Amino acid sequence: MGRVHHAWLFAGPDGVGKETTARAFAQSLLCETPLEGEACGGCLACQKVERGAHPDLLVVLPEARAVDRGLLSREELGRTPSRDLRIEQVRDLEGMLALAPVEAKCRVVLLVGADSMNVPAQNAFLKTLEEPPVGTHLVLLAETADALLPTIRSRCVRVPFAPLPLDLVAERVAEARGVPEQQARLLAALAGGSLGRAMELTTEALEDRARILEELEQLDASDFRPLLALAERIAAGGRDGAEILLDAIALFYRDVAILAEGGSEEMVANRDLLPLLQRAARRGCPAALFRYREAARAREAIERHAVPRLAVERFLIRCVLEEVAP
Ligand SMILES: [Zn+2]
Repeated sequence: MGRVHHAWLFAGPDGVGKETTARAFAQSLLCETPLEGEACGGCLACQKVERGAHPDLLVVLPEARAVDRGLLSREELGRTPSRDLRIEQVRDLEGMLALAPVEAKCRVVLLVGADSMNVPAQNAFLKTLEEPPVGTHLVLLAETADALLPTIRSRCVRVPFAPLPLDLVAERVAEARGVPEQQARLLAALAGGSLGRAMELTTEALEDRARILEELEQLDASDFRPLLALAERIAAGGRDGAEILLDAIALFYRDVAILAEGGSEEMVANRDLLPLLQRAARRGCPAALFRYREAARAREAIERHAVPRLAVERFLIRCVLEEVAP
């Protein structure tokens, strides 16, 4: 019983409302007086969900994110907080689910950053996913569903979360800045769908990003000097500058992955760099997703106050070493 639709996979980039939606979904399941499947918003259970204090809503998230949200202190942890969901957390969850719900009839688990679980952790989680205790609803939140094992993906109902409405942002950018539609789309994509940031990106910044991507594509493990020089350039604009460029690099490799998987040219944002995209796509989709993920990680590290230049160097080294790895 309860095997149908007990597990959900909300997949899409950060900042497009995956967790907000998941919490609303949890509220509708835990609400004491739901109306046509919607949470009432007023009962004690609803209020507790809103305050993040409902004992039957379990939110499992990587330690680093818990630290960011002030739910965990570094001192308490006594070591560097992990950016990934750890196998120990998966096992703790299994233990908690073995007990009956505390207040509600069911229990909801949000697995934030589910795609950060390594393979052993995913395999451990698979046990819970295959035979969840009755009344357990699991919601996996992932940026890249592809990082999850097929056995996990196939057991979840997948809900794709689209990025922010880029078309709308692009339209406004084209109007306000008087740039061609294609460039407006690129600006909107580079700004992650933020109109404010899309308005601020300059043409020089676009050209600079193109040169940096070209150099990045030429790096190899035989000589580290160009790599170090490139790291210096990417980090030259400080924390903000490095973050914007790493976003641009991530977007580029997302496009590469799309092309490598046989997607059409209309689907990519970096249409001004098609030859470069196509060349990069020859290395295949996994290589592109690896770089995509590493760029996103470097950006996250900088957000968490890593030294930009070191974070970028680490990213570039991973890129070139991945090339020589078997
Ligand atoms: Zn309610």
